Amino acid sequence: MIPGSFAYHRPKSVAEAVGLLADLGEEARPLAGGHSLIPMMKLRLASPEHLIDLAGIGDLKGIRADGGDVVIGAMTTQHELCGSELLAAKIPILRETSQVIADPQVRYLGTLGGNVANGDPGNDMPAVMLCLGATYHLTGKGGERRVAAREFYQGAYFTALEPGEILTAVRIPVPPIGHGYAYEKLKRKVGDYATAAAAVVLTVSRGQVAACSIGLTNVSETPLWAEEAGKLLVGSTLDAATVKKAVAAAEAITSPASDARGPAHYRTKMAGVMVARALARARTRAGA
Ligand SMILES: Cc1cc2nc3c(=O)[nH]c(=O)nc-3n(C[C@H](O)[C@H](O)[C@H](O)COP(=O)(O)OP(=O)(O)OC[C@H]3O[C@@H](n4cnc5c(N)ncnc54)[C@H](O)[C@@H]3O)c2cc1C
Repeated sequence: MIPGSFAYHRPKSVAEAVGLLADLGEEARPLAGGHSLIPMMKLRLASPEHLIDLAGIGDLKGIRADGGDVVIGAMTTQHELCGSELLAAKIPILRETSQVIADPQVRYLGTLGGNVANGDPGNDMPAVMLCLGATYHLTGKGGERRVAAREFYQGAYFTALEPGEILTAVRIPVPPIGHGYAYEKLKRKVGDYATAAAAVVLTVSRGQVAACSIGLTNVSETPLWAEEAGKLLVGSTLDAATVKKAVAAAEAITSPASDARGPAHYRTKMAGVMVARALARARTRAGA
């Protein structure tokens, strides 16, 4: 329960942070809220020799509108996402999702950047980012590049982040006014990771689904974008038969582990149940 020894660094700018990461090499890790990394260090599943604390970098904080997008700094906490009026007005699924992450103590420190950069399939925000079509801003010594969230996740704890890079911000296109949304999460108790969860964002025009995007949490080694399931619903009235087909399409792309949250086939079925519930709630909110 006691982490190995490490040196602590507190850069004041992104340039200083990526400089430190480049100079210190593989044994250095960024530290954000510490609510995934420190437990891993205590279990000796991670033993970085250098921690580069991003908390002193003001540029990594904040939520702002930028044209048709909202840009959220990586060090913005989950608590700040819950309290943002801008997000409540423009992308309310982010508040809904933040509210079911862990408990208030974790949310006070846990950051959006840490949640999406970690690569833990149990984290809630990545599937929501796939659903929303978000883009991640990554900065290394060579400059900034942008990677679609849908291309970022490559395996459990394995992402498109290159050594020496930090995620500085998440850019999210604002869904159309009047869109429906829902994040449905099955968990064993308050504060738990998902047994299965589903994010839905959809728009409805003249009673028919005009667009629909679905993300799935913790039912594979990576978060999943259920592209086919979303496509099946376009043009429908969300009638029972079409929803059933979409649920089956979403279940078909899952490959959960059997673990303390249940056997694999149960978790796959629960993913389908979460999709159906999220579709129903999103539909109500879209005023369909
Ligand atoms: C009891 C408990 C329950 C929890 N339940 C949930 C839950 O239900 N749902 C959920 O989603 N999460 C849950 N979490 C995890 C929590 O949300 C974490 O805070 C979050 O996943 C990681 O964010 P962090 O800021 O703490 O990152 P850290 O722990 O500091 O970092 C996590 C990893 O990401 C890397 N990293 C962090 N920031 C960056 C960056 N900007 N650029 C590049 N790499 C970076 C770090 O090097 C590290 O490898 C839980 C945690 C605890 C302790």
